[in-house]
Amino acid sequence: MDGLSVETIAGWGRHPVCRAAVLRPERLRLPRAGRVLPRGLGRSYGDAAVPASAQSLVLETVRADRILAFEPSTGTLTCEAGLSLAEILRVFVPRGWFPPVSPGTKFVTVGGCVASDVHGKNHHRDGSFGGFVGRLVLETADGRLVECGPDRERELFLATVGGMGLTGLITEATVRLRPIETPWMFVEVEPAAHLAEMLDGLRHAGKDWPYTVGWIDCLATGSGLGRGIIMRGRHASRGEAPGARPRETSVRGLPFDGPQWLLSPLLMRAFNAVYYRIQSRRTGGRFVPYDAFFYPLDTVKDWNRLYGRSGFLQYQCVVPRAAGGPVLSELLERVSRAGATSFLAVIKDCGPESDAYLSFPLEGTTLAMDLPYRGPTTEALVHELDGTVVRAGGRIYLAKDAVTRRDDFERMVPRLPQWQRVRDRWDPEHRFGSALSARLLGDEP
Ligand SMILES: Cc1cc2nc3c(=O)[nH]c(=O)nc-3n(C[C@H](O)[C@H](O)[C@H](O)COP(=O)(O)OP(=O)(O)OC[C@H]3O[C@@H](n4cnc5c(N)ncnc54)[C@H](O)[C@@H]3O)c2cc1C
Repeated sequence: MDGLSVETIAGWGRHPVCRAAVLRPERLRLPRAGRVLPRGLGRSYGDAAVPASAQSLVLETVRADRILAFEPSTGTLTCEAGLSLAEILRVFVPRGWFPPVSPGTKFVTVGGCVASDVHGKNHHRDGSFGGFVGRLVLETADGRLVECGPDRERELFLATVGGMGLTGLITEATVRLRPIETPWMFVEVEPAAHLAEMLDGLRHAGKDWPYTVGWIDCLATGSGLGRGIIMRGRHASRGEAPGARPRETSVRGLPFDGPQWLLSPLLMRAFNAVYYRIQSRRTGGRFVPYDAFFYPLDTVKDWNRLYGRSGFLQYQCVVPRAAGGPVLSELLERVSRAGATSFLAVIKDCGPESDAYLSFPLEGTTLAMDLPYRGPTTEALVHELDGTVVRAGGRIYLAKDAVTRRDDFERMVPRLPQWQRVRDRWDPEHRFGSALSARLLGDEP
């Protein structure tokens, strides 16, 4: 096959890895036979975009990134699945449009955003990415091009949004963008001294602000457990924003893998404490470029190398509002006690869950923590955390996961049998598969 190369494939967390053949075509079409894994920019952390074995072809979509149509009266964009949010921002922000939902990095493709049904700082108000998708074109396992959406082939649509690339290859998407007046955000920051204050602060901020998020010093213990910074923001209007265009953010690279000592509990505790102290002093409102608000991590290219060669896991779960504080305390205490030494954790209020069968967010609180990967010890910690999440009626985010066990996953996702029926109808032989689907669904590697 033209342009085929054999490469080592990993997610953003750099664990696990698999060597497999990769194809980056300009026109997205499935090969006639064989196992396939669609992959965008590889920003899922775990094994969702990693093949289960060398038997699978990785079809990377990044060269299929054309804008096919734009309707300026409604902000409706039709594009190929490999178009990145970075490119959408570059083209559309100057024209007064913004992605309706954005994850914490812009280096993701539209196909990846649909397949993970990504959520952003506005989930409490606007829901997840799939809620803004009007139409998808999917190449299914038998090579047919099928259109689906909220009103046509609805079951296939609901299985594909959040379906982690396991129902077909998304080739095109139609997405509603959001109108904005300026590239600036108005942002306020407020410290929270402990978890209860953080949860209250997020709830309170969510009533008036479209974007809210909290950063937690997840190594603080005792009365400071869950202390952190609450950030709330909104798009600035023409009348109030600075007149100048924001300066381009410069991107720095990380030229080496982080050494082990960087991850020592002592150093991380100190880093988190200093960050908390500095941010606590920056209270009050200010205008910042949208990049600084939405994508602070994008300023360091390859920051994932900080965690060294063995990589890291990101543990992200959501727990229902009713379970709330005590369960989140338990998770934070467990990680802190294990000395699992995560940098800052992210906490966020979520709104109601969507109809998409495998979509992650549900009404409650989501917590995301980086855990340096230390083999079985880290995996055992994840299983423990999973146990707590299952008991609370919560779930983990597949776009971050690499370790959760199949039985725990089945307990977390009551709509899994519905999703499996739709998948089996459209892909009876499971041509579409990944290391994640082998681990969690028992697919053949
Ligand atoms: C720094 C950082 C911050 C993040 N913040 C957030 C956040 O705030 N909220 C959030 O929800 N997520 C967040 N993420 C996760 C990220 O948004 C998702 O993993 C997203 O899916 C990555 O898009 P991608 O193009 O890189 O897809 P990949 O990682 O390449 O693939 C992800 C999944 O999509 C499938 N897929 C990709 N393209 C297609 C296609 N064309 N057809 C069918 N299936 C396809 C793959 O098979 C895989 O299962 C973050 C990630 C990073 C690195």
